[in-house]
Amino acid sequence: MNLLNIPERNPNKRLVIFAKLVYNIIDYEYLLVWSALRLKTADIMGVRFHAVTLNEAVDCAMNHIHMKKKGYIVTPNPEIVYLTLDDPAFRSLLNGAALVLPDGIGIIYAARVLGRALYGRVTGIDFANLLMHRMAQEHLRLFLLGSKPGVAELAAENLQKKHPGLIISGCHDGYFQDAQSAADAVNAAGGTDVMFVCLGAPKQEYFMAEWQDKLNATLLCGLGGSLDVFAGTVKRAPTILGKLGLEWLYRLYKEPWRFRRMLKLPLFLLLAVKERIHPQNREGDK
Ligand code: UDP
Repeated sequence: MNLLNIPERNPNKRLVIFAKLVYNIIDYEYLLVWSALRLKTADIMGVRFHAVTLNEAVDCAMNHIHMKKKGYIVTPNPEIVYLTLDDPAFRSLLNGAALVLPDGIGIIYAARVLGRALYGRVTGIDFANLLMHRMAQEHLRLFLLGSKPGVAELAAENLQKKHPGLIISGCHDGYFQDAQSAADAVNAAGGTDVMFVCLGAPKQEYFMAEWQDKLNATLLCGLGGSLDVFAGTVKRAPTILGKLGLEWLYRLYKEPWRFRRMLKLPLFLLLAVKERIHPQNREGDK
């Protein structure tokens, strides 16, 4: 009992004060850089994928948003990695992303062939869904760019119903003549925490790298045909096919015109085997 009312020394309290002091002194950006450095990467034919789970990827994205650190996220599948083989500039652009997520079972197979550690697929659409869930809890702002006229608006309506706390700051279709007009629409919408850039590859990656500094948006995410799925104009493969790694087969059934593009998948795996036997040094990897 403290009859004289003398304040007791509380070592825990002192520790908390010390921790708060250190927390305020360290620049938040160092924390971000430190957390990014902790992420391991796996090199798949010159593209450095981040070895993260879905939750880790979303945590990393939320860090960027909280610290208002600009950046872009890419979600390459084998077709996209294939494009980089003749295009070192595009490869550097992918490697310059804040997060490079393995979208596509072919990337995981290639990682296994090459003996590289990746946890598993982190598809762009799963990433987007979890990110929006977390954003909604904090009433963050999202801009939708891409797809045919009217699709982004339809997607916005559906997403607003699914994630009531989410603020859709604006929409713009992806068939603009001049990128400046799309950028003007984003900036006119006021500050945006996240922007989904759904223009297909490599258009969306070039757009993000070129425009990120000129947009009033913190984090840009290149998500291919995701707006079509959110709008309900394109259906995603049944979950069971996704789990079996056969999403590509469903896509081929629904969109047979993709046949030629999909031929790159077996070629990509053959190249992975070749690379395993004869590792290559590529320009533009740095
Ligand atoms: N798209 C666009 N602008 C363009 C070309 C394409 O907005 O100039 C859209 C297209 O409507 C589709 C998406 O980009 O919604 C590309 O979808 P796809 O499934 O082909 O992309 P992937 O995920 O295969 O890269």
